[in-house]
Amino acid sequence: MEKITGKTKLLALLASPARHSLSPALHNAALQQLGLDYVYLAFDVPEGGLKEAVEGLRALGAAGWNLSMPHKQAMLEYLDEIDPRAALIGSVNTVVNRQGRLIGYNTDAAGFLRALREREADLSGKKALLFGGGGAGLAVIAALLSENAALSVFNRRGDRLENLEKWRKKLPGEQAERLCIFPLEEEKALREEMGRSDIYINATPLGMKANLEKSPAEDSALFRRGALAFDLIYEPEKTRFLEIAEAAGCRIENGKSMLFYQAAEAFLLWTGKDMPQRRKTEDVS
Ligand code: NAP
Repeated sequence: MEKITGKTKLLALLASPARHSLSPALHNAALQQLGLDYVYLAFDVPEGGLKEAVEGLRALGAAGWNLSMPHKQAMLEYLDEIDPRAALIGSVNTVVNRQGRLIGYNTDAAGFLRALREREADLSGKKALLFGGGGAGLAVIAALLSENAALSVFNRRGDRLENLEKWRKKLPGEQAERLCIFPLEEEKALREEMGRSDIYINATPLGMKANLEKSPAEDSALFRRGALAFDLIYEPEKTRFLEIAEAAGCRIENGKSMLFYQAAEAFLLWTGKDMPQRRKTEDVS
């Protein structure tokens, strides 16, 4: 976007809070680099305000938008069409406006996969262990199951754990067989599954802000040397989970590359162009 013109198309982020998001800088830099006549703006839309915001964007002919907390599930209600993977995950982080029809996608799964493949090229037959089956956790599960990996998910006991079990039953039989779900409180199962896994993933908020000193696995003896530990958190860059894993001889990766690639997938959906790679770590810092 060299200059805003009479034809400049609008892309947006709807979130609350929105003001600290890295997405506007990331997308506008890429749009500018490719000379695409779009502008990406962040809007703070409070919970309950999504309907009006979507009506407004639709009326103005916005080309598309991202959703972040707390709107990823609520957006489902206002779509005309949903991509099958987003339907499986049950949330949408990207909307494309195709001639007035709103189509919902979830680019977290594809973004996670692209980031993971940079560290683990062949996922087929690999075994992963995931902490947290929330919104991002479901995207990770969908991504790994689509790649023929096997997966154990650990979540605290409660409604979410029960819903995960119900969700598993909706999967095709062959995929459901590759997915095991355990309560996080089951220490024996955790020890055994950690000992068998090639990839450990943290999709809980343990390690960020209020939980800086926490990790979903505290004992470094649980981690296998040479395995990959992937934390979806990118701030701080090295969480306690990654510190413990690194001390145990694991390779480590934080959530910055996933953040970049989920944005790149949305960018591709909107513009039909690959987001310039440049130095992704610089772009999102
Ligand atoms: P979410 O839907 O709220 O899910 C949070 C998950 O963490 C749930 O499974 C929850 O389990 C678990 N959890 C919360 N507090 C916990 C605790 N004290 N101990 C153990 N488990 C706990 O959140 P989300 O959207 O999935 O996001 C999860 C993380 O991924 C966040 O850190 C977020 O920043 C990160 N993320 C990164 C990217 C990226 O691009 N890098 C993208 C999306 C998300 P319960 O059922 O027990 O509450």
